[in-house]
Order: sequence, then C-alpha cells, then structure tokens
Amino acid sequence: MDKTKWSRDEFMLVMNLYTKLRYGQFNYHNSEVIKIASLIGKTPGAVAFKLVHLSRQDPKHKDRVKGLANPGKNAIEIYNEFANNWDEMLYESEVILARYQNKRVEDIALDGQDIEYIERDILNGKDGIDIERLVKTRVNQSIFRKVVLNNYSNSCAICNLNIDTLLVASHILKWSANQTNRLNPENGLCLCSIHDKAFERGYIGIRSDYKVLISSRLNYIKEKETFNAFFKRHENHSIKLPDKFYPNREFLEQHYASTFIS
Ligand SMILES: [Zn+2]
Repeated sequence: MDKTKWSRDEFMLVMNLYTKLRYGQFNYHNSEVIKIASLIGKTPGAVAFKLVHLSRQDPKHKDRVKGLANPGKNAIEIYNEFANNWDEMLYESEVILARYQNKRVEDIALDGQDIEYIERDILNGKDGIDIERLVKTRVNQSIFRKVVLNNYSNSCAICNLNIDTLLVASHILKWSANQTNRLNPENGLCLCSIHDKAFERGYIGIRSDYKVLISSRLNYIKEKETFNAFFKRHENHSIKLPDKFYPNREFLEQHYASTFIS
C-alpha cells in the first residue's frame, strides 16, 4: 500500500482534530497534532499541513492560505461531508479516534462522572439500544462543548469571562427543536452561564451583524449597577467572533424572531 496516500479514517481523524483546534494551533509542536500523527503513522508536520489546508474551506481563513496547494479531493470531500452532517460525522470520527487507541468512545470523550451515570443506567436494566443512544448523546454533547469552547478561546462571546466551569456551549437553535444542527459548530456560541440563560430566555438577542440586543424587559431590574454590569454595557456591541465556524447568521435571525423579547 502506498504510505503517502491518506485513508478515509486518517482524513476523518484530521478533520476531527481540525474542529477542536484553532488556526494558531495548527503546528507540529502542538501536543494534539503530535498525538494524532503518531496514531496514524504520519509526521506531525504532515498532519499540521493538512490542517492548514483544510482551512481553505473556511471563508475566514481562505485568504490566509491562498498560496498553498489545493488540499486534495479527498480532504475537500471529507470537509463537505462533515459540513453537511455534523451529527453523524463528528460522532463517527470520535469512534474512529477511540478505535485507534484500542478504547471505547465513552472512555475518550467522557469524564468519570458521565461514565458513572451510564453505568448506573446499565445496572438499572436499560436495554442495549437505550444505552447506545445515551452514550451517543453524551459523547456528542461533550464533543460539541470541546469544539465550541476552544473555538472561542474559552471565554464568553459577550463578556469575555474565561472560567471554564462557568462556560456553556450554547445552542443558537435549540438542541430539542433542531435535530439537524445539534452538532453544527455554526449553531454554537460560547457563553457564560448568565448570558447563556439570558439568551435562551430571550433577554438577549444577537442580530446577523453580530451586535448584541438587550430586551427592554430587563429595564425593570431595580439594581441598576448590576443591570449595567451584566447587560446594558454590552448593548450594541459586537460579540467576540470565534476563530472559525462563525455563528450562522440565519440561525441568529431565527432566534431573534422566535425567542428575543424586544
Ligand atoms: Zn458572559
């Protein structure tokens, strides 16, 4: 077999890594790049090069990598397959990542507490299909969080708070209402718990120009200093934009129309 050729699984793993790293992390010194390279028997440099190539598909980075050669048909195909079906492709790539390490997908994607929940459900006699669905849902939530938080450099897109445990990978279109975009990184916003809840409840809206709107409903808050600190001072300011996977403008407008209380 030609060792310079990349298999589909290898592309899947590089694309999986692409979603989890920022542009500035696409280099052969990065520990995640080194890890994937050793799993698939390529050099870290070759993996980093593929990552940079993949950014040609991203409108924000397209111009930065103009001079580089085309990433190749297979890489573009995989990128588009992900973009058309984030739900299945991200999960599938995570399963491949586990397989390359001789592990189960839940072992690499979930923390101890999550696994305890799943084991408790197994002990409670849930059947195989329920358990499989449960594992998939939790793995997907965990990958989505990783992708979204990293993409926003682990800080709230509205207030910049950068405490991981207080950050949420918020969905623009609700997880429950929109099945096809559950894992689409363009449907994600990294928000702190307060701004996540306020966005979900419609106290905050974000228009397609990325400017923040504050609902007049909050004008009644008596504690003006708190109101200003948490909300008013962000009004009409642009959110902090991510490294890639910009929030989808259509999704933002849909959220504004259906959820924002003006
Ligand atoms: Zn915030």
